[in-house]
Amino acid sequence: MLNYTTENIVFLEVPDEVSLAYTISGCTLGCKGCHSSDSWHKDNGAPLSLDYFSQRLKAYQGLISCVLFLGGEWELSALLPLLKLARSKALNTCLYTGLDDVTPTLKAELTYLKTGRWLAELGGLDSPFTNQRFTDLRTGQCLNHRFTCN
Ligand code: SF4
Repeated sequence: MLNYTTENIVFLEVPDEVSLAYTISGCTLGCKGCHSSDSWHKDNGAPLSLDYFSQRLKAYQGLISCVLFLGGEWELSALLPLLKLARSKALNTCLYTGLDDVTPTLKAELTYLKTGRWLAELGGLDSPFTNQRFTDLRTGQCLNHRFTCN
């Protein structure tokens, strides 16, 4: 089972979506300057059970349009059922990963994918120099321009 350290409603991380977002424990990439290093240990936080997640989707029914997981790709067998449940409720799904790509099996359950680790010298999605990419997997379109001011 996956653990999570934060659960928030977010408006900016996925363009045009109101997202229920979870920071998942256990990222091993160790980016220098990571803003959620408290989530690096996989046992930190609380368990994100399918039952609990289902209750949260029910509580936010009609108020959210998307579910966002910040990590969790390292435990596919636990992440996939959560994504499938969200999609069964007609919600869009998004994964923020520090990897440069994820498996086709995982992509099949995602509407959006943010790839690329945090490199402070290149900046995040709002930087023209970033190594990160935010993709709408339905069209393959890069949506990085939605994160910049221009
Ligand atoms: S990929 Fe994200 S969560 Fe993982 S260490 Fe890098 S910035 Fe932190």
